[in-house]
Amino acid sequence: MSINDLLRPDLRGRTPYGAPQLDVAVRLNTNENPHAPSPGLIDDLAKRVADAARHMNRYPDRDAVALRAELAAYLSRTTGQPLTAEQVWAANGSNEVIQQLLQAFGGAGRTALGFEPTYSMHGLICQGTGTGYVPAARLPGFHLEPDSAALVVREHAPEVVFLCSPNNPTGTALDLEVVEAVYDAAAGIVVVDEAYAEFSHRPSAITLLPGRERLVVTRTMSKAFAFAAARLGYLAADPAVVDALQLVRLPYHLSVLSQAAALAALAHADELLATVEDVKEQRDRLVREIRALDLEVVESDANFVLFGEFADQRLTWQALLDRGVLVRDVGLPGWLRVSAGTEDETGAFLKALADGMREVHG
Ligand SMILES: *Cc1c(COP(=O)(O)O)cnc(C)c1O
Repeated sequence: MSINDLLRPDLRGRTPYGAPQLDVAVRLNTNENPHAPSPGLIDDLAKRVADAARHMNRYPDRDAVALRAELAAYLSRTTGQPLTAEQVWAANGSNEVIQQLLQAFGGAGRTALGFEPTYSMHGLICQGTGTGYVPAARLPGFHLEPDSAALVVREHAPEVVFLCSPNNPTGTALDLEVVEAVYDAAAGIVVVDEAYAEFSHRPSAITLLPGRERLVVTRTMSKAFAFAAARLGYLAADPAVVDALQLVRLPYHLSVLSQAAALAALAHADELLATVEDVKEQRDRLVREIRALDLEVVESDANFVLFGEFADQRLTWQALLDRGVLVRDVGLPGWLRVSAGTEDETGAFLKALADGMREVHG
């Protein structure tokens, strides 16, 4: 028997998630915050990690209570919706949070529904957990409207619905009326992936949590918090959802180092979020200046923009790479996605795009 014969039939022939990690000067392909942590944060983090190291012989707090309390305080402060630690759960990146949600509420014989194009990991984590995935369509301009979104949810009656706002890779954000309509139409769990909430012009779905015990809002420290390498994602939901996740999470899944690092970042939240204003400026600059090149740009509430439309986006992707700029081909014919960088990186991208278009299109 070969390994492939032994593999679960539903996984055979699949390709793993993989944004290219190429060593180029300007990397704008994974929507990271381009601002490195300050010396003050690095010092504080090092102190907290040293403190934690004193107890490295012991397992960490399995329920990460101190961290969840700080995350709840951060969400309460920034959304105006009072939350407690019992309503918050944390794991190694919001991808792990989503995996735990599907382990608890999806699985064999169950389905999840998402509106494509959207974050590819939603479908991939469905595969990994044996959950069926229904790719529903968006309206022109990649929008969703309450009535039509509710209709497709009623039709498929999935156990889990994914909404992504602002949506990756389109940058479009949802009006809360869409979330409300989908919630009312769904019998199962509704997950709003708010990985980019801090960059958005719209209110968070966290404000809809009271009275909606099937609603889950996921967040991450990977984007606005400039903390992608630490791997820290979290959610806000009814305490009953958090209790359900305890049934599937691995014991001690969040290392004491991750917990200490995340607490350090939260103590520096104001400083980290100040970089968000910078990034938003560069995002708005991308929208303006790519449009000035006579290209289409989807209006963005995130830290990236989707731009096109190209006869073959792979040629433009390569032309940019040849000029030392890595952007993302998300597999959406005609379109590419670029993350807002520092002022210099964003400038380098815009120059490479103008040059590259001359090469590709003459
Ligand atoms: C980047 C991203 C995440 C973040 O995943 P982490 O595991 O927290 O790094 C989650 N959802 C979406 C839509 C994203 O684009």
